Amino acid sequence: MRVALIAHNNMKDSLIAFVKENEARFAKFELCGTGTTSTRIMEETALTVHKFHSGPLGGDQEIGALIPSRQLQGIIFFRDPLTAQGHEPDVNALLRLCDVYNVPLATNFGSAEAILDYLCKRLVQQNVSHSSQNR
Ligand code: PGA
Repeated sequence: MRVALIAHNNMKDSLIAFVKENEARFAKFELCGTGTTSTRIMEETALTVHKFHSGPLGGDQEIGALIPSRQLQGIIFFRDPLTAQGHEPDVNALLRLCDVYNVPLATNFGSAEAILDYLCKRLVQQNVSHSSQNR
């Protein structure tokens, strides 16, 4: 299961703190993210994150492109609600695709905890069904 991690500049410290707190759980997923966010996570944790371009340079669109082919199972995207973003159209396009394909999306600390719990539960269910198929 693949999960994308993204944070706008003013929100990066909060996302890094959240990822550090939950590092063992995040280690169970394939992670990807926008450029600077991925670099910071890899610098500050032992996690490996597939790094796309920076958000303003197309990273949000690269992540969005994974959605129609069902290659992305969740997004944790700490958006800055107080600062206008030059790449707002890309952000909206990403959120829209999450709605089209029902991809679980957390845009703040409160919902991130809930989404991570849900994704971990799905991972366990998936592993159980794979192991019963292999019997
Ligand atoms: P960044 O992109 O991780 O490269 O800063 C995030 C964004 O602003 O969308």
